[in-house]
Amino acid sequence: MRIVVLPGDGIGPEIAAATLAVLRAASERFQLGVTLEEHAVGHASLEMFGTTVRPDLIETVRAADGLILGPTATFDFKDEARGEINPSRYFRKNLDLFANIRPARTYPGRPARFGTFDLVVVRENTEGFYADRNMEQGNAELLVTPDVVVSLRRITRLCCERIAHAACRLAMKRRKRLTIVHKANVLKIGDGMFLDVCREAARGYPGLAVDDVLVDAMMAHVVRQPERFDVIVATNMFGDILSDLTAELSGSLGLGGSLNVGAKYAMAQAAHGSAPDIAGKDIANPISLILSMALLLAWNAERIGAPRFEAAAHGIEDAVAAAMREGRVTRDVGGTLGTTATGQAITDLLRSGASAS
Ligand code: NAD
Repeated sequence: MRIVVLPGDGIGPEIAAATLAVLRAASERFQLGVTLEEHAVGHASLEMFGTTVRPDLIETVRAADGLILGPTATFDFKDEARGEINPSRYFRKNLDLFANIRPARTYPGRPARFGTFDLVVVRENTEGFYADRNMEQGNAELLVTPDVVVSLRRITRLCCERIAHAACRLAMKRRKRLTIVHKANVLKIGDGMFLDVCREAARGYPGLAVDDVLVDAMMAHVVRQPERFDVIVATNMFGDILSDLTAELSGSLGLGGSLNVGAKYAMAQAAHGSAPDIAGKDIANPISLILSMALLLAWNAERIGAPRFEAAAHGIEDAVAAAMREGRVTRDVGGTLGTTATGQAITDLLRSGASAS
């Protein structure tokens, strides 16, 4: 099992190091035989190779069993002609990672400011308002005159269908509840199609309860009553914004794990960015990337039919829950530990077979 690791910018190298410590321990305990191959991406790569993503990396990743991508300083990368490529966009688009799975849950033993909940945001990942990736060629943001900008959103039936089915399949494995988040009252054609396609897809899953909520109202509903939701499906930008909110409601954006999945490939990636405000201080929460890595292992369990990868994913999630319960975590979630020590605590708990409760 070969995993490619690209630590990224800002807090990326710190949380990646903690994540790899946990992954090595999981590989030993569950006999996964994981080997790691690390490469530079983002600013480190720009300095060394004149580009934020070396072109040969795509084949390296295709030949591997998964990618762990740390957060990158995407806001800094403005000009592709100067090698400033957005690594996140690059891998999502080139590997056609159409589903972004973003679980969020509260943990026993940690104060839950907005009630206890366990939900997953399933975000379309390849089109929508993301102007840097929704065109075959060129960019969907146009400077019409120096003072007029047009930004185009692309919505296709195919992308709606595949994200709808990904969400329905996941909901059927969970509490069988699907919420469709949209703005079909204003974006009547695009979000109208998204809503229709999701409803139609859901009809093929017997016993699946479906409702839909306007995206603006959703910001209130998910704060007021997060326990009401199980699987939430949304277009790209709405899903991105909503999942940062659900991560923070669960305790911290630093708990926001995520997996980008396509038909053949998967990429583990924290939901948050490179957090330059806390980089280099050993205070970033590594749990986001640790949980993302666990999702990658679970995906591999299904891909190669090896239940020990699923067991490893559960073992990591249990170790995280135990660290949360015991307060052996970073300050953003009420602990006193640094990034490295949190990774070490989770590694120790994983080795000792800690349970979630
Ligand atoms: P951010 O997500 O990096 O940070 C938002 C806030 O959350 C900050 O206060 C930060 O300190 C905190 N935070 C984030 N991760 C944390 C963690 N693990 N532990 C504790 N606190 C954490 O958003 P930003 O500051 O607006 O963006 C910084 C850079 O990241 C920008 O260049 C942006 O474009 C980029 N970005 C990258 C990705 C990605 O690589 N997928 C995603 C979002 C933003």
